[in-house]
Amino acid sequence: MLIKCPGCGIDVLEDQLFCGNCGYEMLATILCPGCAKKVPEKKEFCKFCGVNVKLELQLSKERSQAKKEEAAENIKSVAKGVGRAAVVVGSKVWGCLSILMVVLFGIGVLAFVFLLSR
Ligand SMILES: [Zn+2]
Ligand SMILES: [Zn+2]
Repeated sequence: MLIKCPGCGIDVLEDQLFCGNCGYEMLATILCPGCAKKVPEKKEFCKFCGVNVKLELQLSKERSQAKKEEAAENIKSVAKGVGRAAVVVGSKVWGCLSILMVVLFGIGVLAFVFLLSR
């Protein structure tokens, strides 16, 4: 089958990779998701395994997109968990410190009273 070269307009064979006249790349090739062989980008179906290349590529794109979103969500939830844990630990530390302050203050007052009473 002959198709027109988009570069110069002459008729070239459909399966030719480059136009013989102007060197235009006629068939950009991609790897078939089904059999990993080089297939023309323009063709919808792989001539080796019959897989719908465009559909498969679209699906795999969507799948990787979904995976990326899922990973981002996981990172977010982990970050949230870490943040919450930090808040809990922080409040515990502050609780311990305030108890310590109260105890130290009490000891100080007791010592002061003890010194006065002598
Ligand atoms: Zn050409
Ligand atoms: Zn294939």
